[in-house]
Amino acid sequence: MERKGIKIIKGDVEEIVNGLNKALADEWLAYYQYWLGEKVVKGKFREEAAKELAEHAGDELKHANMLADRIIQLGGTPVLKPEDWYKLTNCGYDAPSDPAVIPILKQNIKGEQCAIEVYQKLVEKLKDKDPVTYYMVLSILKDEIEHEDDLINLLEDIQ
Ligand code: FE
Ligand code: FE
Ligand code: MG
Repeated sequence: MERKGIKIIKGDVEEIVNGLNKALADEWLAYYQYWLGEKVVKGKFREEAAKELAEHAGDELKHANMLADRIIQLGGTPVLKPEDWYKLTNCGYDAPSDPAVIPILKQNIKGEQCAIEVYQKLVEKLKDKDPVTYYMVLSILKDEIEHEDDLINLLEDIQ
């Protein structure tokens, strides 16, 4: 049966789904980067950093949930294979190969700044086309800005 919730969208639904799937790939890579960072981080201020990394990992997983649910609601399919995360990602993955607090914070700040750009572009694209996805993406953007802020504040406290 035709879905009114999809019909009201002004714009290419497939294109919206593709943008959301790219963001979904980013969120899984960001989740893993934080999740692993929390485990391997060491040195001075390790506890403060680990606490923040763990919190952000949880938020990125929530973002992945929101994106996947909306993709399905729009009649799309969330990216099915982890190997496709690398094909779709906007922001890539930075392995925490140096476990010291400062390089880990810097890697994740870079990731957040990329995420902010990605979601800002999505917000602009969706603004007059799909208010429901727009609102969701806006709330993710708000979280990413908070993540960047938290990490920069922590880095500045340490330095
Ligand atoms: Fe996120
Ligand atoms: Fe984030
Ligand atoms: Mg935080």
